Amino acid sequence: MSTPVIDLQGITKTYGAGDTEVNALRGIDLSIDRGDYVAIMGASGSGKSTLMNIIGALDVSTSGHYALDGINIDDLDEGALSIVRNRKIGFIFQSFNLIPRTSALSNVELPLVYRGVGRRERRQRAVAALEAVGLADRMHHQPNELSGGQQQRVAVARALVAEPSLLLADEPTGNLDSRSTNDVLTLMGHLHDQGRTIVMITHEDDVADHAGRVVTLIDGLISEDRRNTA
Ligand code: ADP
Ligand code: MG
Repeated sequence: MSTPVIDLQGITKTYGAGDTEVNALRGIDLSIDRGDYVAIMGASGSGKSTLMNIIGALDVSTSGHYALDGINIDDLDEGALSIVRNRKIGFIFQSFNLIPRTSALSNVELPLVYRGVGRRERRQRAVAALEAVGLADRMHHQPNELSGGQQQRVAVARALVAEPSLLLADEPTGNLDSRSTNDVLTLMGHLHDQGRTIVMITHEDDVADHAGRVVTLIDGLISEDRRNTA
């Protein structure tokens, strides 16, 4: 067996203390294998964002153990966490988070700038990533010259370009109309077929239907973990 991409054991997260204490996660055990496509669902307040922040190494748990791609990250400081994040995870956000007045190509190159990849290789890899999301003809457009669905595909290209171990998407279709939602979900399906590991937070059943596995949270605990039948 290969190492899971995500291995969470007994993860808890408590915000605040005393009277204002909130137990946002109350003991999460979750293992996600390479190549899986997992939707994390749950009502508002169930702990999805808290879990996403921990999986994404944006925050640390209160107790429990987390190994990301075989690296134990429980005791890392912020500097070390940011390195792991940059190497291992491609983020996709509801609001795209593209840099305005900057071409799609430059947006997609950015993670490679942070990783010290030279200009020529950066350009080649960013072009290839934009081709992979079907935007070869929009590379020189700025975000405000693209539709919402196209902007999210640029964000997917940016998430992919550094070849992360994990694509982590937080409500990626939350700001899209139904046609763009379909485009983005079709793209995620292709990436899964190519062997990418995807974790997608969503509160919509018909979005979660696209994943291979659906994990549901209730009140900081996993209440259901099931495989979708195709
Ligand atoms: P979801 O994303 O499923 O809506 P969250 O993870 O955002 O759920 O929140 C889970 C619980 O933790 C909620 O009760 C929320 O109010 C609380 N919570 C989230 N973030 C914080 C914070 N920074 N400080 C205090 N409480 C928080
Ligand atoms: Mg949330």
